[in-house]
Amino acid sequence: MNKKTKAHCNQCHGERNHEVLFTEKTSWSEERYGFQGEDKYEMLKCAGYDNVILRHTSWFSEDPEPSVHFYPPAMSRKEPTWLVDISGKSTRFAKSLLKEIYVGVQNGMKMIATMGVRSLMEYVMIDSVGNQGTFGKNLAEFASNGFISDKQRDILDAVLEAGHATTHRAYQPSDEDLATCIDIAENVLQTVYVHPGKAAELKRRVPKRR
Ligand SMILES: [Zn+2]
Repeated sequence: MNKKTKAHCNQCHGERNHEVLFTEKTSWSEERYGFQGEDKYEMLKCAGYDNVILRHTSWFSEDPEPSVHFYPPAMSRKEPTWLVDISGKSTRFAKSLLKEIYVGVQNGMKMIATMGVRSLMEYVMIDSVGNQGTFGKNLAEFASNGFISDKQRDILDAVLEAGHATTHRAYQPSDEDLATCIDIAENVLQTVYVHPGKAAELKRRVPKRR
């Protein structure tokens, strides 16, 4: 009988019991400075979904805590299902960038992800209303064309400011701040690229009033 352990499962979306299928350990040492370390690789199978992952735990004599990484990375945020509804040449970049943002989030790259959200929002605004020269003008034009309400404009302004602060003022966003930025970016993408097509489909399906 194999050993059991708890780990995050991307299929079950949470901590689940996993069976340890295989374990490999290696160690190293640096004699000149007296450093040493150990690596453990475990192949784990989820008891719920039979999903298989690799857990890499590494110890370094100068670090008090071991570091743990999963392959593929543990996903705290799922790609939204409507992403498949975004198609067309101009949206290809937006979609690719959003996917890279999710990869960044899954790998703890909060600063890169926050900068990515700002770039994504800039792209969507320019794609929708043309380049007005500055962020402020693009945002004003985007709002006056009805893509977002005044309230959403204030919120989007905060997202753009977070990206700017990361780039220029060494701002390190928290998990919560980044999650808020991505929530808003997803919202804007849906409004601009997904909802118009869905609304047209709906109009076709609903019988006309007599
Ligand atoms: Zn699972």
